[in-house]
Amino acid sequence: MNKPLEIVIVGGGTAGWMSAAGLVGVLKPDQVKVRLVESDDIGTVGVGEATLPQMREFNDRIGIVESDMMRKTNATFKLGIEFRDWGFKGSSYVHPFGAHGRPLGGVGFHHQWTRARLAGRAADIGDYSYAITASRRNRFDFPATDKTAVNSTYDYAYHFDAGLYARYLRGWCEARGLTRTEGKVMEVRLDPTSGDVAAIVLESGEVITGDLFIDCSGFRGLIIGGALNGPFEDWTRWLPCDRALAVPTERSEDFTPYTRSTALEAGWQWRIPLQHRTGNGYVYSSSFISDDEAITRLMGNLDGAPLMDPKPIRFKSGRRTASWTRNCIAVGLASGFLEPLESTSIYLTQVAVLTLLDLLPRRPIDPVLAEEFNRVVDNEYDRVRDFLILHYKANNRTDSELWRHCREMEVPDTLREKMALFGHRGHIAQYKDGLFSPPSWLSVFVGQGVLPTGYHPMADSLPLPAVLEEMEALRTRISDRVDAMPSHADFVRDYCAGEAPLKAMGAGA
Ligand SMILES: Cc1cc2nc3c(=O)[nH]c(=O)nc-3n(C[C@H](O)[C@H](O)[C@H](O)COP(=O)(O)OP(=O)(O)OC[C@H]3O[C@@H](n4cnc5c(N)ncnc54)[C@H](O)[C@@H]3O)c2cc1C
Repeated sequence: MNKPLEIVIVGGGTAGWMSAAGLVGVLKPDQVKVRLVESDDIGTVGVGEATLPQMREFNDRIGIVESDMMRKTNATFKLGIEFRDWGFKGSSYVHPFGAHGRPLGGVGFHHQWTRARLAGRAADIGDYSYAITASRRNRFDFPATDKTAVNSTYDYAYHFDAGLYARYLRGWCEARGLTRTEGKVMEVRLDPTSGDVAAIVLESGEVITGDLFIDCSGFRGLIIGGALNGPFEDWTRWLPCDRALAVPTERSEDFTPYTRSTALEAGWQWRIPLQHRTGNGYVYSSSFISDDEAITRLMGNLDGAPLMDPKPIRFKSGRRTASWTRNCIAVGLASGFLEPLESTSIYLTQVAVLTLLDLLPRRPIDPVLAEEFNRVVDNEYDRVRDFLILHYKANNRTDSELWRHCREMEVPDTLREKMALFGHRGHIAQYKDGLFSPPSWLSVFVGQGVLPTGYHPMADSLPLPAVLEEMEALRTRISDRVDAMPSHADFVRDYCAGEAPLKAMGAGA
């Protein structure tokens, strides 16, 4: 029988512990031996609190119980992201986890909506989305399983405390036999013949060898960027934000089942409601505002008392040219970073972990597996990149230099073509793999003011009055059904209240 593959994970942030959980949750001890090294002195980046619905697939795959995880991470529900002041100052739209309407007359709903809009007869497109209507009214319930029901047309994700999530996964992994070592990696040794990573050396002098090294050391990319000197593709020319300030505030009364992103003069501010506090931050471009001005702007724009001083973080948007290089796989921030506008980092970590499970190597590692891994991961990064750039490119703000700059910048051809197709007649080019699906593109196109001048000719197969009647009936059905939902706060209290928040909410003992 083969000896188990020895896997060493460097880093105990969200990426490190998700990698560990994926490996020990799915594979057997006679297949892999996993060891994780992390340094309490260095700590984690300490942000990353909003997720995507795909995370539920990850948790299900490894057997995490939702209510237990939510209770222990003070989590709340997320139906989408509200974008305030993005299209223009005073505007607001929600990118929902779910559809707008349903097909009518053999074409996507948005073609009929465009037809009604061009006739001056359409309501806000958000009124035809269950997730958006529920978000606007601060309601939450699980989607119905009956696929014909109007309240089955959405999905949900979580907001959680990233530190508690990493701690939760750590307990979960240790209960399944994972070895964790606290210690600082001081040196990465390469095999002089093959150039592969042979071992890491800790401050204590301990030398840890392995077959495969997973670099989850955060922005520093200790192995991939350090010892292996892996190149990094810089995307700052399209995504100019390079700094962030993060500050938690006291829990607010406005307990939204969605993340809020508010565009500011030199970037944007996030707001993420958790059970015990609200996470806030300002993502900005240092070319357009000083750090001191950014602090003043953020601290003056909070809806609760700050619980600490803002924490500064520097980053560069882009990704490694090859996340899997030799016998090292970079996961999480070590592999790349795209600003958190659409909460995609944890998703990208999940993709890396699940792709590694699909391509799990044997000794010696065949480079063909690395090639396939990099193809999958690169594709995911590139898709997210284009979607994020759309938010910046399609803006009508005139108040500051950053927004003028973004409106005028050249964008990747892949995005330019997508924008042209949608603007022409609402066509959303669909791809098989990767984020994001047509409903996501639709919400951001329309929200940012990219409105089609035409629609699919098949839409005309139904008379306009019949379409308008159907649209109005849908709007009313959604509205009535949403009114019958519990409030987000009540739902969280009854389903997954953490101990401290439960007391604060005046329920339980
Ligand atoms: C401003 C901002 C907001 C974000 N918001 C979101 C969001 O809403 N949603 C989302 O999905 N993602 C978000 N992210 C991304 C998210 O934070 C990361 O994807 C996630 O935290 C994973 O980080 P990581 O584990 O790769 O790195 P880190 O958290 O930095 O962990 C690195 C680990 O490596 C260890 N380490 C480093 N060097 C050594 C060494 N020499 N020896 C031993 N150990 C070492 C550290 O101790 C630590 O344990 C955000 C990121 C930023 C910057």
